[in-house]
Amino acid sequence: MRVSAAAPPQVATLLDSMASLPSSPPTYRGRLAPSPTGYLHVGHARTFWTAFERARDAGGTLVMRMEDLDPDRSRAAYAEAALEDLRWLGIRWQEGPDQGGPFAPYAQSQRKNIYLAVWRKLLRGGFLFPCRCSRKDLETALAAPHERVSAGAQSNEMNEPLDDEPVYPGTCRLQCNIAQPPNLTVGEIEEPDGFNWRFRIPDGEAVEFEDRNLGSQRFVAGVDFGDFVVWRRDGVPSYQLACVADDAAMGITEVVRGADLLKSTARQILLNRALGFDNPGWFHCRLVVDRNGRRLAKRCDSLSLRALRQRGFTPEQILSGELPVEV
Ligand SMILES: [Zn+2]
Repeated sequence: MRVSAAAPPQVATLLDSMASLPSSPPTYRGRLAPSPTGYLHVGHARTFWTAFERARDAGGTLVMRMEDLDPDRSRAAYAEAALEDLRWLGIRWQEGPDQGGPFAPYAQSQRKNIYLAVWRKLLRGGFLFPCRCSRKDLETALAAPHERVSAGAQSNEMNEPLDDEPVYPGTCRLQCNIAQPPNLTVGEIEEPDGFNWRFRIPDGEAVEFEDRNLGSQRFVAGVDFGDFVVWRRDGVPSYQLACVADDAAMGITEVVRGADLLKSTARQILLNRALGFDNPGWFHCRLVVDRNGRRLAKRCDSLSLRALRQRGFTPEQILSGELPVEV
């Protein structure tokens, strides 16, 4: 077998064609990002259906990404169920944990090196500080806010404000001496282990963006949200960090998700800026609520796709809005 130092002709051609890409608009790439901490319900179905339609209508690619970072709450059985339920609805994707693709792996639990690289870049850029606040304050930082609301159902009113968490009081930021805890300089710290790491927000800055569904949005750093956790003491990257890292690494051009994540979008815009990543387009879907105006959560088992399917509902009924909401 002959070994040549030069790139094979087909690779050279490929590189040439990639170099010419900027003249054409980027191909639409969307994603479905369920977290396997319970069964999907009607609200998820409609949001994921919207993501599917937008990718299909744009002639683009839809990526399935399993957001299974939380080892305590993620279950393989829920991940399987999510794929099956979404297929049953008629949703199809072109890349994912079940079929691979150019950006594999597609399960977040297998992508920790990517998150570590992003964490290091933020740290070196001076955007992070270690936080020693109690675990109780922080135990909810990992989950996407919509997950947190359902996880905290036993202690919260169901009509808790969406995507809300107390604004971080700045305790550790004020005493921040980043070199102090591990007794290393920023450039020497390689691992986040042992601390919660927070992103230092630009106090008072208004983060504004145009949502493709809901119009102009505006959140003020330090008022609407505070310094947020990007890495947990127990070694797990936060939802915000993993989401931004993956959307950039997977070339996502539009994020379709529930309106409960609008405030997280403001946080993620700050992360993208700090990292030098382009923002994708944002399309937030209105939430499905019950007849008392309360949002659905994964604890509403009677509204899970699984339960509805067993009772004979069709995908069309579930997606059309005809469904009796209080089932
Ligand atoms: Zn703290």
